[in-house]
Amino acid sequence: MTMPTYLGMPAFPEAAKEALADSQLRHNLAHATGVIRAKRAGVVAELSDWSELRAAAKAIKDHTLANLDTYLVRLEDSVQAAGGHVHWAADAAEAGEIVASLTRAAGTDRVVKVKSIATDEIGLNESLATAGITAVETDLAELIIQLGHDRSSHILVPAIHRNRAEIREIFRREMPDAPPGLTDQPTELAAAAREHLRREFLSAKVGISGANFAIADTGSLVVVESEGNGRMCLTMPETLISVVGIEKVLPSWRDLEVFLALLPRSSTAERMNPYTSIWSGVQPGDGPREFHLVLVDNGRTATLDDQIGRQALRCIRCSACLNVCPVYERVGGHAYGSPYPGPIGAILSPQLRGMGSELDRSLPYASSLCGACYDVCPVAINIPEALVYLRSKAVEAKREKKRLRPEAAVFGLAGWGLRSPRRLKAAQRVAAVSRRVVGRSGTIRRLPPPLSAWTDTRDAPAPPAESFRAWWSRTRGDQGGSGGAS
Ligand code: SF4
Repeated sequence: MTMPTYLGMPAFPEAAKEALADSQLRHNLAHATGVIRAKRAGVVAELSDWSELRAAAKAIKDHTLANLDTYLVRLEDSVQAAGGHVHWAADAAEAGEIVASLTRAAGTDRVVKVKSIATDEIGLNESLATAGITAVETDLAELIIQLGHDRSSHILVPAIHRNRAEIREIFRREMPDAPPGLTDQPTELAAAAREHLRREFLSAKVGISGANFAIADTGSLVVVESEGNGRMCLTMPETLISVVGIEKVLPSWRDLEVFLALLPRSSTAERMNPYTSIWSGVQPGDGPREFHLVLVDNGRTATLDDQIGRQALRCIRCSACLNVCPVYERVGGHAYGSPYPGPIGAILSPQLRGMGSELDRSLPYASSLCGACYDVCPVAINIPEALVYLRSKAVEAKREKKRLRPEAAVFGLAGWGLRSPRRLKAAQRVAAVSRRVVGRSGTIRRLPPPLSAWTDTRDAPAPPAESFRAWWSRTRGDQGGSGGAS
């Protein structure tokens, strides 16, 4: 039971074109994001100190990231003191090997999983499958995705692109113990999943989770969730393995208070999420007998090295930025080619994976730069700033690869024209003439390559019939002069 990987996916514009053609998908997304958006705005407005909480969260994350080495070592000491084991994974492959060998050591080839984007990022299910280990997703939406051989399209609601009828068909087809007369009523679908998963929970020897937060002072791990499946995975198996990105560490319990106020309101639009599980190491007679924490880098240290890009590491995966993004609302999550879709994905994936692929170079352009994501982000990540910055890095990366550089060609030509008043005047005359041919309506629909990169997705304004210089000359009797810019 493995999921498709994100390797070799097309660049964003190509994938988005395909998604845009799916009107059912657009309808599902517009409805779901619209509902969450309105509810979030309501519960956020209830807190008069929201902006102070947001500033506090930003400050805590920035302080922690600036001293990450100190807090990670403190976390390791605390987890070990509480009876747990800590493993360090430089990349996805190493993390997969560690989890596979811990699972084999526990004497099983089947694990139950709590929803975790970090494990999606490292392709854990696929690497476990290669090692002969079956990973069973227990979050309802993740189960739908897994049974449907599909990919997640939202951080919080991974099956947001599926409607009830489609889910019923997936259950009927892929779940051997689904009731014969299963309808598409949500209560029946949830009951069928519950029955199916209960058997897995009762027989699982190993549980695998991520963590929303890791507290350095006490070695405590925190998972917030809504369904209770997480609580089952975290408490019933004999061995618990938590796979956590190194940026999830917080210094102390006091810091956690701020994030537990921000996260549920920003994600599920709840004042408090139904289940918050917190555990520190192992306790005899209570929960798993073995606990392993796998701390994953996988591109985070390189991201931390970047003054502007590092703010993406503040992210607490609430998904508020997805729900307000006009681009995400129309194309959904698959077009982003990563388990991190939407605005956060557009700045995080190219940094974690690097800009070696067309896909990762295209992601910073997957935005209208409207700024709605920045407004709602509970840790004040300036996503538009990071997007613009990453666009410049994408251009550099292309240049290094010696690929066709339409932007460089256009700006080079513009620079050559602007350096000489004579050339500028000539260019303005040509532009005014070209208006009669291509821009009589005031806009230009289609331009030849490389300028077609602009008109493929939007109109260009037609050049004015008369330039400012020509107007000045005509109305003031001046000859247009040849002086530089004032
Ligand atoms: S970038 Fe901000 S709004 Fe988006 S998921 Fe992360 S924390 Fe939430």
